[in-house]
Amino acid sequence: MKVHDGLYIDGAWRPAEGTGTITVVNPADEEEIGRVPAGNALDVDTAVRAARAAFPGWAATPPAERAARLTALRDTLAARQEEIAETVTAELGSPLSFSRAVHVGAPLLVAGSYADLAATHAFEERIGNSTVFLEPVGVVGAITPWNYPLHQIVAKVAPALAAGCTVVLKPAEDTPLTAQLFAEAVHEAGVPAGVFNLVTGLGPVAGQALAEHPGVDLVSFTGSTAVGRRIGAVAGAAVKRVALELGGKSANVVLPSADLAKAVNVGVANVMSNSGQTCSAWTRMLIHRDRYEEAVALAATAAVKYGDRIGPVVNARQHERVRGYIRTGLAEGARLVAGGPDAPRARGYYVSPTVFADVTPGMTIAQEEIFGPVLSLLAYEDEDDALRIANGTVYGLAGAVWAADDAEAVAFARRMDTGQVDINGGRFNPLAPFGGYKQSGVGRELGAHGLSEYLQTKSLQF
Ligand code: NAD
Repeated sequence: MKVHDGLYIDGAWRPAEGTGTITVVNPADEEEIGRVPAGNALDVDTAVRAARAAFPGWAATPPAERAARLTALRDTLAARQEEIAETVTAELGSPLSFSRAVHVGAPLLVAGSYADLAATHAFEERIGNSTVFLEPVGVVGAITPWNYPLHQIVAKVAPALAAGCTVVLKPAEDTPLTAQLFAEAVHEAGVPAGVFNLVTGLGPVAGQALAEHPGVDLVSFTGSTAVGRRIGAVAGAAVKRVALELGGKSANVVLPSADLAKAVNVGVANVMSNSGQTCSAWTRMLIHRDRYEEAVALAATAAVKYGDRIGPVVNARQHERVRGYIRTGLAEGARLVAGGPDAPRARGYYVSPTVFADVTPGMTIAQEEIFGPVLSLLAYEDEDDALRIANGTVYGLAGAVWAADDAEAVAFARRMDTGQVDINGGRFNPLAPFGGYKQSGVGRELGAHGLSEYLQTKSLQF
C-alpha cells in the first residue's frame, strides 16, 4: 500500500508545515498500516491560497472541458478500483466484496453522473427580460467522515468541480489513505494544479482552520451533528455558505399490509451493512402490535446470520461507544434478542449484530445515533402512532415504508419528516437528492440538486 508523507497542494505532493502524523490502523486486526501528515493551519492556508489562485481559470473553463476532466477522473478511479477497494478494506474494515460493490461502485456512479451533468446542465436560463447565470460559488472547504471514505469525497468534489469551484479537502483521520488515492486519481485525470487540494489532519486543527478560513466561500461538511452545529455557527458568523450532512435515526415503517418477512429481512440487512456505520441506516423498525412478535423472531434470525459476515467498526473509540449503547439499551429495559455488548473476537473492533425488542420511543437507543450494527424494534398501535414514533426524533435523514401497494406506502411517506424514503425496498438512485430534514442537515447532495449547492445566481436584466 502506497502512503504519501506529504499533502497534495497546487498539483504536487509537498511536505507539511505541521510536524505531527496520524497513524492509520486496520480495525480488523488493530495493526498499524500507515502514517500520514497531520496538516496544520499553515498548511490549510497554503492550500486555500492555491485553490483561490486556481479559481478564476477553472471557473472560466468551458463546462465541456470540466466534464472531460470528470470523465477522466471517473475512468482513473475505475482503472484503480481494486487498489481502492483494498485500501478501504484495510483502513475501514469492511469486507472486500462490499468495498468493491459499494465503497467503489457508488462513487464511480456519482463521478460519472457529474461528468454528464457538467456537460448537460443549463448554467444559463432566461426568465422574462432577464438572463440568469449560474456561477460557481468559489473555493470550497470539504470536510468528510470515514464511513464511506470515497463516496463522501466524490459526493462533494465531483459536483464542486462540475460547477467550476475549486476545493480543499480535509478527510477523516481514520481513512486518509483512500483520500490520498483519490488525489492521485485527480492528478492523473489532468485536473489543473490548485483546483483540488488535499490536507490530511485532525478535525479540531486542520478541519477547524478550513471552516474558519476567510478564503473559503462554502464549507461542505459531512459528519456528526455536534461538529456540524459548530461549523454552521462559524460559517454563519462569517456569512459564508454552508452545507451540512449530519446524523440520522431513520425509521423503517412496516405497515400491516406489508410482506413482513421481506420487510424485516431487508431492514436487518440495511442496518448490518457497513457494520451499521451508515448515516441513513433504518435503525428503528416500526411494527404493528399484532405482528410484533413474528417480526422480532424474523429479525433475530436474520441478524444472527450476519454474525461472521460483517466487518469491525472503525476504531477503538467506536467499539467502546457502540457497545456502551448496547449496555444502555439493556439498562433501560429493552429486550435483547440477538447479539449483545461482549466483543465477539479477541482482536479487531468487532461488534455482534444486535437486535433489541420492546424498545420504547423515549429510550436512548431509540433516540440517539449509535453508528453500529444495532437495530431497535418498536411496536405501534395504528398509523398515527407509527407516524408519531417515526417523526419523534431530532433527526430526519432517511427512512423506509413497506405496504401491500406503493400508493399506500407513498401516502405514509409523504407525512414523514425526512429527506429520503425508500418505498417497498426501492433501489439507490445516484441522481436523487440526499440530505436531511431537521437536525440531519442543511442542503442536498447528489444529482442536479447537489450541483446547485455549488452554484450561485446572477441576473442580468434587458
Ligand atoms: P465527526 O463529526 O467527528 O467528523 C467528521 C469530519 O469532521 C472529520 O473529517 C473530522 O476530522 C472533522 N472534524 C472533527 N472536528 C472538527 C472541527 N472542530 N472542525 C472541523 N472539522 C472537524 O464525525 P465522524 O465520527 O467522522 O462521522 C460519523 C458521523 O457522521 C455520524 O454522526 C454520521 O451520521 C455522520 N454522517 C452523516 C452523513 C450524511 O450524509 N448525513 C454521512 C456520513 C456520516
